[in-house]
Amino acid sequence: MTYEAVIGLEVHVQLKTASKLFCSCPNKFGAAPNTNVCEVCTGLPGSLPVPNHEAIHYAVLVGLATNCTINQASVFARKNYFYPDLPCGYQISQFDLPLCEHGYLTINVKNQTKKIGITRIHMENDAGKNIHAPAENQSYVDLNRAGTPLVEIVSKPDLRSAEEAVAYLKTLYGIVTYLNVCDGNMEEGSFRCDANVSIRPKGSATLGTRTELKNVNSFRNVQRAIEVEIARQQDVLEDGHEVVQETRLFDAVHNTTAAMRSKEEAFDYRYFPDPDLIPITISDEEMAKWRSEIPELPASRLKRFMDMTGLPEPEAEILVQNKELSDFLEEAAQSANPRKVASYILGPMSRIANAQATDLRPSHWAMQAKNLAELVTIVDSGTISTKIANDIFEDLLVSGESPKDYIASHGLAQISDSSELESLVRAIMQKNPKETEALKNGKTKLIGFFVGQIMRETKGKANPAIVNTLINKIIQE
Ligand code: ADP
Ligand code: MG
Ligand code: ZN
Repeated sequence: MTYEAVIGLEVHVQLKTASKLFCSCPNKFGAAPNTNVCEVCTGLPGSLPVPNHEAIHYAVLVGLATNCTINQASVFARKNYFYPDLPCGYQISQFDLPLCEHGYLTINVKNQTKKIGITRIHMENDAGKNIHAPAENQSYVDLNRAGTPLVEIVSKPDLRSAEEAVAYLKTLYGIVTYLNVCDGNMEEGSFRCDANVSIRPKGSATLGTRTELKNVNSFRNVQRAIEVEIARQQDVLEDGHEVVQETRLFDAVHNTTAAMRSKEEAFDYRYFPDPDLIPITISDEEMAKWRSEIPELPASRLKRFMDMTGLPEPEAEILVQNKELSDFLEEAAQSANPRKVASYILGPMSRIANAQATDLRPSHWAMQAKNLAELVTIVDSGTISTKIANDIFEDLLVSGESPKDYIASHGLAQISDSSELESLVRAIMQKNPKETEALKNGKTKLIGFFVGQIMRETKGKANPAIVNTLINKIIQE
């Protein structure tokens, strides 16, 4: 039997507001445990939440950029469950009336575009973090994260492969980082996803039983987790068993998924409107203002970069993968050839990022956009060769030094002075009389030999075009 996979994603995005969602504690990752906490985010009795309007603003931007209807009146609800990282025993979320509904994203897989529905986007506060120390037989609770503003973006079950799921996630990631509402730091959990996966006989119109893979936090692991879960479900069905609705965890080391809790153990959240919070309201004026703030998003920038650089989509996609990089390219391309600027990003800069196991965000290094533009211009003018530019690129990237200064202080400028080069060519010919004779007798292949000798002598700085002309001139004498 041929099966078809069906996938729906629930993505949690941390909003990068200065303070938390319901209190004024700093919304910051990495502080010493339990230092960014107060009576609200630790859930002390008698404390009252005060909504952070900036977080609502950011959430509306996400809704607008994903083609949602925005409910200008929406309601916070309590989602009740007990867990040590949630001291007040409920999460403040949204249930009946979420902030945003009925949106969609357009994804691009194998040169085909596809619309993926978004059921809803609601706001909620993040929980704290349990830290387990098995060696000490202890568990700790850090509440710094408690109260971090989140949006949860729930897709329709419209995705049909791990590849489509990753394309959807990357598209969404681009949007929230271009909107500048999320720092995009996936290792720190700023953008994480639960994947719901089921399979059904190809052509069937009903949905199969799904499992939910919890908190997968890299694009690569989402791809792997979904692929192994699809394969596992096929094995289950082919063995004549049924898929059980449950929550599973992906084990990236063993490349498997394992059951975490079954449907029977699922929480009954007993949602009800939070009596401490009045409905969120957004005025028409605010809506109009926020609508006008939506910047250029990756899809439009991708098209523009393809036109500007003449590059095909897969390469241009690398250039728009994060806003910082695409801003960097845009700025450099204002004063230098865009295609050539792009080639340094796709070539040496990508190689260095790979070697350093980091992503392509220029802020990892000191090079400014204007430095890259300068380098392109210097190579264009013939002051240095492309080879030398590639050789010195990493130094420039890391030091942030102006290419002009670097080339001057390292004596790298190309030698284009004909008389200087002419005496060099003559000297080399004198040192190699046999080859010179053969060249004069028509063995033109030897031109390469002489150019090579000159390049060695000048450490690659001789202007090859001038050297060629000079050799041809001298052998005619
Ligand atoms: P819950 O709140 O229990 O997680 P939802 O109905 O809100 O359930 O669905 C959560 C996610 O699961 C959504 O992204 C939805 O698209 C997806 N989903 C629902 N049914 C299936 C299914 N049969 N196969 C795959 N994904 C599904
Ligand atoms: Mg769910
Ligand atoms: Zn607080």
